[in-house]
Amino acid sequence: MPRTKVTDSTPTKASRSALSSEVIHSFQVRLPVWYEKNKRDLPWRHTRDPYAIALSEFMLQQTQVVTATPYYQRWLKLFPTWRKLAEAPIESVLKAWEGLGYYQRARNLHKLAQAVAASPSGELPSTAEALLELPGIGPYTSRAIASFAFGESVGVLDGNVIRVLTRVFALTGNVADRAVQQQLWSLVEQLTPSRGADTYNQAIMEIGALVCLPRKPACLICPFNAVCLGKSDPERYPVKERTVTKVVVEKIAVIENKKRWWCVQSAASRRLAEFWRFPDLDERTMISGQELIRFKYTITNHRIELTALHAIWKKMPPSASGRWLTNEEIESLPFPAAHRKIARQLAE
Ligand code: SF4
Repeated sequence: MPRTKVTDSTPTKASRSALSSEVIHSFQVRLPVWYEKNKRDLPWRHTRDPYAIALSEFMLQQTQVVTATPYYQRWLKLFPTWRKLAEAPIESVLKAWEGLGYYQRARNLHKLAQAVAASPSGELPSTAEALLELPGIGPYTSRAIASFAFGESVGVLDGNVIRVLTRVFALTGNVADRAVQQQLWSLVEQLTPSRGADTYNQAIMEIGALVCLPRKPACLICPFNAVCLGKSDPERYPVKERTVTKVVVEKIAVIENKKRWWCVQSAASRRLAEFWRFPDLDERTMISGQELIRFKYTITNHRIELTALHAIWKKMPPSASGRWLTNEEIESLPFPAAHRKIARQLAE
C-alpha cells in the first residue's frame, strides 16, 4: 500500500493505558522476526543516505512501491544530490516526476533541496523536530527520515500503521477525530522501541502493506493474530468519513497546424502549474469538430470525464498565449497524464 498521508496532526500528550506484556511482545519481538523473514528487497532499504531516503519517502506518499521504484532509480541518476536537484529547473523536475501524479510532492522536494543547498551544512538536520521546520516535510515524513536515515527513536503513523493499530486495538472512532488521533499517537509512543525504531517502523508499515490489507487481510499468518481484537471483522477498521466524489466534465481542444499541436502552459495559479497541456475548448474562439478520445479518470475525490475534440480557430489567439509543439517536443516537456494520453493517440 502507498504511504497515504492521512493526517497532518502532530503527536500531542495523549493518555496512556497500560498495554499487556503479550501485546508489547507481539509488536517488539514477533513483528521484527516476521519482518526479517518476509521483508521486500527495496532499493531505499540499502542506504542510509538522507537524500535518497527523503526521496523515497516523498515518492511513496500516495504511490505504490512497484510504481515508485523505477522513478526512484532514474531520479537518483538525474539528480544524485540535494545540490543537483536544487540547481535543476522546475520543468526538468516535473518532467522526471511525470506519471507519478500528486505533483505538489515534486515541487515540495525541489523547494526542500533549495533550502538544504542554501543551508550552512548543505545537509538535512538529523532530528524529527528540526526536519519538521523544513519546507514540504510533515509529521510523518520528518519521523520517517529521522528514524531511517539517522536512527532516531521516533515512531511513525501513516495509512498502513493506522490500519494495523485500529484493528489490533479495535478502535471504533473516526480516525480523523482528534481523540482517535491522540489514541493512535499514544500507541505509537508506547509501542516504538527505544532501540531499533528504524526496523520497527519499516516492519509495522510492511505488515500493513503485505498482510493487514484493506480487503481480506491474511490474519492466519499475522504475528498479531493472538492479540488482535479486530480480527473477527477486520474490514470494519479503520473507521473513516465517507468522501463525496465530484464529477467534473472537461472538454479539450486539439488544434493542428502542419503536424504541430497548439499547447498552453498552466498558469502558476492553476493546478499543475508549469505543466504543458492541450487547451480547454472555448466555443467563443474555437469551432469544435470530430471527437478524438473520451475517457474517465479520478484525482483524489474528483471523477473527471474528459473528451478531446479536434478544433479550429475562429480567430487565432495572441502567439504569446501558447506554442505550436511537435510530437517530439510534447514528449520532452512535462504533461499531465491525461493530456499525455491524448498526445500519444495523436502520435499514433
Ligand atoms: S490479525 Fe488480521 S486484522 Fe489483526 S493485525 Fe493481523 S492481519 Fe490485521
